Amino acid sequence: MIHRTQVGIVGAGPAGLLLGHLLHLNGIDSVIVEDRSREHVIDRVRAGVLEQGTVDLMTAMGVGRGVQHSGLRHEGLYISFLGQRHRINLAELTGGKAITVYGQNEVVRDLIEARAETGRPLLFEAEHVSVGGFDSSSPEIRFRHGGVDHALQCDFIAGCDGFHGICRPSIPSGSLTVHERQYPFAWLGILAEAAPSSDELVYTYHERGFALFSMRSPSMTRLYFQVPPDESIETWSDDAIWSEMLERMTTRDGWRPTVGRIIQKAVTPMRSFVATPMRHGRLFLAGDSAHIVPPTGAKGLNLAASDVLVLARALKEYFTDGRTEWLDRYPEVCARRVWKAQRFSWWMTSTLHRFPDENAFDYHRQIADLDYLTGSRAAMTSLAEQYVGLPAEVSFESAGL
Ligand SMILES: Cc1cc2nc3c(=O)[nH]c(=O)nc-3n(C[C@H](O)[C@H](O)[C@H](O)COP(=O)(O)OP(=O)(O)OC[C@H]3O[C@@H](n4cnc5c(N)ncnc54)[C@H](O)[C@@H]3O)c2cc1C
Repeated sequence: MIHRTQVGIVGAGPAGLLLGHLLHLNGIDSVIVEDRSREHVIDRVRAGVLEQGTVDLMTAMGVGRGVQHSGLRHEGLYISFLGQRHRINLAELTGGKAITVYGQNEVVRDLIEARAETGRPLLFEAEHVSVGGFDSSSPEIRFRHGGVDHALQCDFIAGCDGFHGICRPSIPSGSLTVHERQYPFAWLGILAEAAPSSDELVYTYHERGFALFSMRSPSMTRLYFQVPPDESIETWSDDAIWSEMLERMTTRDGWRPTVGRIIQKAVTPMRSFVATPMRHGRLFLAGDSAHIVPPTGAKGLNLAASDVLVLARALKEYFTDGRTEWLDRYPEVCARRVWKAQRFSWWMTSTLHRFPDENAFDYHRQIADLDYLTGSRAAMTSLAEQYVGLPAEVSFESAGL
């Protein structure tokens, strides 16, 4: 079956769903093609920290009711080292900005509901998805859905299909440059039925390695600690996980996470990755399909949102009056923010983790880094403005909001 749309979107993660809604608000047709089921997409436990700008964007798009109602607004965070927690007042240092803890699965659920209300197509469980014809005026997404083969002809394709998707690998070799850094550790993360014992995130640097206390709701704690990169989750019993969490996180004043039943656990590798340019002909990459950050700076989902804001502006200008200036500028405009987020995520990761090849000099330098960070208003301001999110590269108004 042959169909036609203005923008074919591959992937119904945050990038694809946000883009689809931004286009809808500008009266631009799109079809979203997703290879997993609706339940799988919603149930995936991933990011949870939304920058101020991401919350503002969702609100401006009319999909912010859930995050406004159930999101946990945090005006500060803690950096903990040598057994002591130090609070960084994000709101005071940034003129009132904050982060909001709201699970990625909630974001995705809200966006899927909003898409359903628009009546525009969102196809789950598409099989054999492939893309091509980027250099022609009508690139195509081919897939099988409901037992029928489909060819979707588009003016543009948005590759929003994450790191393991098919869009980036469909670009001819030699047209993309990959910049990558692997880290010699991974994160063991758990979701536990336990009321958070802190209202704000606690980033811990400990002799045994990094640990992070966070939460998903008033009754659900999300915790992580650094493990070797090839660690198997099977080697960690729940008791062993809690013992390691408490060993790293308990502070001298007796603060510690509340222990509860672990309902989900996994090991996530850490990687920095950027593929440039984020465009090939009429294919535009957005979100994790083009770049990955280690989760320490909580930037992945937020970068996906800022990419598609720029892409929406570019597509709006093209479909309104045929101008291609912003389509042409898309890779360069996105790259500026992507690289700043890469730098911040690398810096947070390098400052807070223990490296296998480090020596006593490195240990004392890291402690000095943290001592400086938590004692200098200038250093805290630098962290705060990046953590709550640097300003968007384009205004909401320019993207039709
Ligand atoms: C385990 C894990 C933990 C994370 N934790 C954090 C965190 O704590 N903080 C943070 O900021 N970020 C975190 N991230 C990163 C964050 O989740 C991502 O940056 C974010 O999901 C990016 O959104 P996206 O829409 O670009 O990609 P994705 O969310 O990956 O969405 C891509 C979509 O495309 C679909 N797809 C893939 N291939 C195809 C295909 N061939 N055809 C059709 N559809 C396809 C996928 O099923 C998926 O629904 C984490 C990521 C992972 C994997």
